[in-house]
Amino acid sequence: ADRFYCPDPPVSGHFTLEGDEARHLLRVRRLGLRDQVELFDGRGYATCAEVTAVGRDRVELTAVGTALADRPLPCRLTLATAVPKGERFDWLIEKATELGVTRLVPIITERSVVDPRDAKLERLRRRVVEASKQCGRNRLMEVERPTPWSTLLKSVEDDVRLMAHPNGSPRGRWPRSRNGQGASVTLAVGPEGGFSDVEVDEAQASGWSIVGLGPTILRIETAGLVGATSVLAQYEG
Ligand code: SAM
Repeated sequence: ADRFYCPDPPVSGHFTLEGDEARHLLRVRRLGLRDQVELFDGRGYATCAEVTAVGRDRVELTAVGTALADRPLPCRLTLATAVPKGERFDWLIEKATELGVTRLVPIITERSVVDPRDAKLERLRRRVVEASKQCGRNRLMEVERPTPWSTLLKSVEDDVRLMAHPNGSPRGRWPRSRNGQGASVTLAVGPEGGFSDVEVDEAQASGWSIVGLGPTILRIETAGLVGATSVLAQYEG
């Protein structure tokens, strides 16, 4: 079924779509009265719903049946990543959403060349919604404000903290949380110039593990996606 993002709870039994979502339903998908769609609220709830009223840029729907089961993600994964140039960041956001990353934090490191403060957070969050509609995810990936690496280092309390580095240990020797699917993991990916020696030393001193992603040097977005896939695969049921 076509999926639409509806963060607001129903009022008097009716869900309301406005703006982009209403236009998508009416003009792009050309749906109308009595058509059935799937609604999700971005926090894990989803339901089938029937269109009960349409206005110019407004659609009302009523839930049909019980809530739909959520697809659980393998673990809670934060991808803390330097920002690749231009469109490549949008692409990373889309693919990280599809793969099941829980939270993405753009980081500012010593050698960062793309200043993530210029990144348009709202545009990126819209990209997360579009990817979630397409991939069947009911819980949106959180996109945090850009954070200096030193601040992130102090604030992360996850079970497993990984820094991707070409000299890191191979996947077979990556640490793994004992909490199974309740695991929380942060994976950090550096800028095109890499993490500095000081940043690597600080991470190790704070209990992070330095992990490798194979013999070749990957671009930021490739490293982020390959790293995320490797972590998530460790916790798949
Ligand atoms: N010359 C840089 C260095 O030595 O780190 C290359 C940086 S690479 C283009 C950007 C980021 O992707 C790195 O900081 C690292 O986090 C990650 N990365 C790229 N290739 C990797 C690999 N083979 N293993 C682990 N991490 C990798």
